[in-house]
Amino acid sequence: MKRKGSGRVTRREWLRGGAAFGAMLALPACGGRGAIETVDRTSDLDSRKDRWMYDVIIVGGGPAGLAGALMLGRARRRVLLCDAGARRNAAATRMHNFVTRDGTPPDEFRRVAREQLAEYPNVELLDARVQQVTGEKGELEVRAGERTISARRLLLCTGMIDEVPKLPGADALWGKAIFQCPYCHGWEVRDRPWGYLARPDDLGHLVPFVTQLRGWTEDVTLFTSGAFELPDEARRVLAGAGVRVEEAPVAGLIAEGERLVAVELAGGGRTPCEALYAHPAQRQTELILSLGLTLEAGFVQVDPMRRETSMPGVYAAGDLTTRMQAALPGAATAMQAASMIHVDLAMEQALERASP
Ligand SMILES: Cc1cc2nc3c(=O)[nH]c(=O)nc-3n(C[C@H](O)[C@H](O)[C@H](O)COP(=O)(O)OP(=O)(O)OC[C@H]3O[C@@H](n4cnc5c(N)ncnc54)[C@H](O)[C@@H]3O)c2cc1C
Repeated sequence: MKRKGSGRVTRREWLRGGAAFGAMLALPACGGRGAIETVDRTSDLDSRKDRWMYDVIIVGGGPAGLAGALMLGRARRRVLLCDAGARRNAAATRMHNFVTRDGTPPDEFRRVAREQLAEYPNVELLDARVQQVTGEKGELEVRAGERTISARRLLLCTGMIDEVPKLPGADALWGKAIFQCPYCHGWEVRDRPWGYLARPDDLGHLVPFVTQLRGWTEDVTLFTSGAFELPDEARRVLAGAGVRVEEAPVAGLIAEGERLVAVELAGGGRTPCEALYAHPAQRQTELILSLGLTLEAGFVQVDPMRRETSMPGVYAAGDLTTRMQAALPGAATAMQAASMIHVDLAMEQALERASP
């Protein structure tokens, strides 16, 4: 791998080495076993640094992380994508509203994305959870299982964790009849009775969100469970939209298998409902919380153009940065971050080499 005399590695040599290295890691079958064992942390780090330090480690292999990996791979960056596996839309059988992929099962989406990434020998994948990040811009260290891996930059695409509504039967119906987004899962249940399960935290976006549901069906009920007071103006607009407001506490869900039939109210009443929308509370992953990044309303704050977080050299994209959560915008923000990372690395290299 070393060029005679100089001790440095040419791009071509490096890529050839990377191809062999990548072949060992190539997914989809990469179960993590042996994935990066060839990186021997006990040998002299400095002698290996040029060869094995990644340009970018991406944490999270959902739509955002995969898109970021593709963008950086095509920019000839040396990339490691680490993914823990569990995905946010695991409960959904189909993914909608991703142009050319409408109706694709989420697992299939990931499989095709990984297959396409395998075309780029400079992109490697590791099925492992990143537990810790240390170091600083230029030499960030990532701990994944027993491995410690270094990178110049980090792109966080870890998504968010949903706290599914705590109602008996809700877990089984999440993603099947309880949805977070009508654009993703509305067409298939259009013209049926719908509901919105509100929480006090929803008040800021409640009226426009529920009003828009009328675009899919004439039969919409807002369930407040009497947990908060609806302002008069909100009632007026909802009435204008033909939305019913049900303030009795929601006691349960009546379902037939994975099909929701009605919402059960305290006191015994039932409201027909076949699609129930909700914005459950969300939280960041442990890794994100451990980094102490600046958050805004629970989301990782990023520079709007560069998508760099409050930690220099650490970028973020996808659900963890915004309430506007969907696969395509997640992928788009990762592309933006990826291009900014590439530019930053190129500039850094140029400045290092520039004459004083
Ligand atoms: C039920 C449901 C249905 C949905 N349906 C649609 C739809 O039809 N269309 C649509 O556009 N959107 C849909 N969404 C939203 C969509 O799933 C998200 O917006 C999208 O997945 C966000 O992509 P992401 O890459 O940011 O995060 P995610 O897809 O959540 O991916 C994050 C990845 O990071 C990994 N990860 C987390 N922490 C670590 C760590 N420490 N180390 C390594 N890996 C880690 C996770 O395992 C996961 O694979 C749906 C959401 C839900 C909940």
